[in-house]
Formats: sequence, structure tokens, C-alpha cells
Amino acid sequence: MQTLDILIIGAGPIGLNCALEAEKNKLSYLVIEKGTIVNSLYSYPLYMRFFSTAEKLEIAEIPFISTAPKPGRQEALEYYQGIARQKNLNIKLYEKVLKVRKNADGAFLVGTTKGNYTAKNVIISTGFYDIPNIMNIPGEDLPKVRHYYTEPYPYAKQKVVVVGSSNSAVDAALETYRKGAQVTMIIRHAEISKSVKYWVKPDIENRIAEGNITAYFNSELMEIGENSVTFKNEKGQIAEIENDFVLAMTGYLPDFDFLKDSGIILQGECLNPFYNPGTMETNVPNLYLAGVVCGGKDTHLWFIENSRIHAEIIVSNILRNA
Ligand SMILES: Cc1cc2nc3c(=O)[nH]c(=O)nc-3n(C[C@H](O)[C@H](O)[C@H](O)COP(=O)(O)OP(=O)(O)OC[C@H]3O[C@@H](n4cnc5c(N)ncnc54)[C@H](O)[C@@H]3O)c2cc1C
Repeated sequence: MQTLDILIIGAGPIGLNCALEAEKNKLSYLVIEKGTIVNSLYSYPLYMRFFSTAEKLEIAEIPFISTAPKPGRQEALEYYQGIARQKNLNIKLYEKVLKVRKNADGAFLVGTTKGNYTAKNVIISTGFYDIPNIMNIPGEDLPKVRHYYTEPYPYAKQKVVVVGSSNSAVDAALETYRKGAQVTMIIRHAEISKSVKYWVKPDIENRIAEGNITAYFNSELMEIGENSVTFKNEKGQIAEIENDFVLAMTGYLPDFDFLKDSGIILQGECLNPFYNPGTMETNVPNLYLAGVVCGGKDTHLWFIENSRIHAEIIVSNILRNA
């Protein structure tokens, strides 16, 4: 079995950037991805728009040309998948990494659903989009509850509860409202999140102010039934409203079990994985983190724009240690 210089787990934008950086520096590498190329982006809402402009999403200085000021999902899929195709990156798809272990000789043994690999260095760039942050309330497992929102059309003329007030919640509320859903937002905080895209925030605030979308602030969803939901309102009273669908836009979490099982220390309330910001190396020598997985529960800390730099930091450290 060939021992690779680098094995990269996850073919998101940042995993691809690590592959390009490895190739540029003539290191042998393999990317292993459990889905398709940029699988998280593939699962995004169909009509979403990035908050970043196209050039801020570029990797390896390859131009990202968009027809709009902020690119959409399909353009991003074309861009990142196009790079993987054109550069003929070494990627294995639909293969999940199950474990990362260090051998006695210091190399890693990486076990997947399809085989085993050995590598001198491993980069974990597994993102956070696979595990929904569940509310842990009765009825959450009903089929009418969705933790991923794709498009508005299934919800026409339906009574929809949207939980949350961040970008995903606001986009889902506005899109479904505009396709004829009767939308109620249940929001734990006192206002719409400040991180909502600056050109979308007035839109949701005005729809709430005019009463076309109902919003309960300082409120918490308590229980989901077949035809209704129960929530605690800001006065602490329990209220029940009729309901057909719940869009639980409560965020997503990195795979903490996988990180822990790989030997990485998780710290503090946000379970921040330990890494040296100067090298991106974890407490396990030659095991690196890249991309949004670095933030632990704080999934707003890292995004493509500011984690593109990880690839260069990691590969230059690997070259220094070689
Ligand atoms: C709706 C939305 C809009 C966003 N807009 C922006 C924006 O405008 N600008 C910006 O900079 N950022 C934005 N972000 C954040 C950023 O796009 C994503 O978080 C980005 O995908 C992060 O890239 P990544 O490579 O770190 O992780 P991901 O893209 O999540 O890639 C991780 C990959 O690892 C794979 N994987 C996971 N576990 C395993 C395993 N065990 N074995 C094999 N493969 C595995 C996954 O399938 C996935 O393909 C947005 C995020 C969301 C959700």
C-alpha cells in the first residue's frame, strides 16, 4: 500500500483547496469524500445566494465568474466541481472515512467504508453540514419536521412554522411566504439575527411589521403534534397554533464523535477542537484541521472566505517538517 504524503477527508471547497495546494507543491495526496464533490453545497437550498461575492469564494486564484453580484448554489457547484474536473484532482467519492489511527511508525491508517489507506499527514476538512442541531422536543421525529430546507413549492397554502432567525430561517420564511404559505416564526431571541444578510434583513423585518409573517420573539417551541405545535411565548405562557410543517432551521454541528475518536481534544462550551492557529496542526502530530470544522459549535466563526488560507498554512508546515 502506497503511503501518501497527505490524505484529505472531505471534498468541500476547503478540502479541494488543500488538494490544489498539495498538487502545487508536488506532494502525493488523496481526497476521500462521502458524497459528491462539494456535497454540502449540493444540499443547500436550491435558490440560495451566498453572502460573499464570487472572488471571495475563489480557491487557488482560479477566477469565479458569476452573472450576479452574489453567486448562487448552481454557479458555486459549477465552479468547484469544474475545478476538480479540469485539474483532474485525485478524489474518491461516495466513500466515508470511519476512523483515523496512528501506527507505531508514526504514519496514519485511515479506514473507510471501502478500504484502508496510509498517509504521513491527514487533513480533516469535514465541515459541519451533516448533523442538524436538534431541539430535543416531543414530535421532532415526525415526517412533517424538516431540518434541511430545499425549496418553497411543497409548502404552498400550508401552515408553516420556521424555527430560528438566522440566514437559513429567514430565507425559508420569505421564500415560503412568497409561494403562499402561512408563515409563523418562533424565535428564541428578541430580534432577527444581526448576521442576516444586510439586503435581506429589511425585507423580513418589514414583512413581520406589516403582519404578513407572524413572528414570536423570546419564544421557544415546546412540542410538535400531527396538526399543531405548542410553544412558550415571551410572557411565559403556553400557546398552541395549527400547523402543517415545521422548518427547524436551528443550525448544524461538526461530527464531534469522529474528531474525538481521531484523538483530537475538544475544549470548552463550544467543543472547540484543539489546533495551533499558526500551523492548523491538532494535538495529534501531523493531523490537521481545515475549514469550518475548526469552529466547533461556533459554526459562524469560519466560512469559505476566511478559511481558504488554511490550505497554504498546512502545506507549508508539512513541507517544513519533511
Ligand atoms: C446556506 C449557507 C450559505 C453560506 N454562505 C457562505 C458565503 O456566502 N460565504 C462563505 O464564505 N461561506 C458561506 N457559508 C459557509 C460555507 O459555505 C460552508 O460552510 C462551506 O461549505 C465550508 O467549506 P468546508 O470545505 O470547510 O466544509 P464543507 O463544504 O461542509 O465540506 C465538508 C465535506 O466533508 C464531507 N465529509 C464529512 N464527513 C466525512 C467523512 N467522515 N468522510 C468523508 N467525507 C466526509 C462532506 O460530505 C462535505 O462534502 C454558507 C453556509 C451555508 C450553510
